[in-house]
Amino acid sequence: MQPSIISMNGKIVPLEQAKVTVFDRSFLFGDSLYEVIRTYQGKPFRLEDHLDRLEASAKLCAMSLHQSREVYAAAVLDVIRSFRALPGEGNSEVYVRLIVSRGSGKMGFGLKNLETKTQYTLIALRASDLAPPPFKVGTKIQISTIRRNAPEALNPAAKTGNYLNSLLAYLDAAKAGLDDAILLNADGHVTEGSTFNVFYVNRGIVATPPLDIGILEGITRKVIFEICDDLQIQYREVRFPPEYMYSADEVFITGSVKEVLPVTYLGTKKISNGKPGKITQKIHARFVEKVRNEATIEGRKR
Ligand code: PMP
Repeated sequence: MQPSIISMNGKIVPLEQAKVTVFDRSFLFGDSLYEVIRTYQGKPFRLEDHLDRLEASAKLCAMSLHQSREVYAAAVLDVIRSFRALPGEGNSEVYVRLIVSRGSGKMGFGLKNLETKTQYTLIALRASDLAPPPFKVGTKIQISTIRRNAPEALNPAAKTGNYLNSLLAYLDAAKAGLDDAILLNADGHVTEGSTFNVFYVNRGIVATPPLDIGILEGITRKVIFEICDDLQIQYREVRFPPEYMYSADEVFITGSVKEVLPVTYLGTKKISNGKPGKITQKIHARFVEKVRNEATIEGRKR
């Protein structure tokens, strides 16, 4: 059993007691939001950005959060502290999943059926138990035949507990012997991966799809822009078909768990000789430096 700390509505509970009622709307309807935060040197990376995004997701889902962001932040810090207090975990980096359900009550969609406030649960795990492949190895992904939801449907800008669409794309890729999948929109433009943002590099210029195409605004995606500014690498937010990725010099993906990961194969097409490209390496090196620096500087300016 992997070591874990679970907190429910502000209290750390033993795993055996960490149960949700069958009338919880996250279970019945996927009516929930979540964030995944990870630590560097035991400090949550960009916690404020994650809480901003949680609040933005709540707005998109017409969900009134009954806890303040201070309550969520305290719970995140609490599970991290408790996880690192487990035997042998003193220096472990921690993965924290914060899940907020609209609540539970009587069956049915109507908000009048709700009998509780928003319910919040945190799961803390050892980050290395969920680690992506090593940077040097990279990842093999495919372009899925499953399309990303239109922003006019369940808006991909909201990070909700409703990941079945992305999960199906992932499962197709796994069946094909690949690690993961990128989804196009109905127009055939690249959007994002099942749980990550996507970038390609051509002639030294970095490109990634724009937010208004219907994607999650990744916290790591924003960090990549900061890094490009720092390193004076040009970047563009543009719509593009998958062909641009197949013929790109480099492709990489980003996320809080995946960090910066080179794509070595896109379907059967080898990218960048199957190795991390030069720009990807530069960006990754700066990323590693940045997360280390931020963990050691108190109160990073937002
Ligand atoms: N897109 C989707 C659909 C995701 O689930 C994630 C992971 N949260 C991302 C992008 C990357 O976001 P972040 O960098 O904030 O982890």
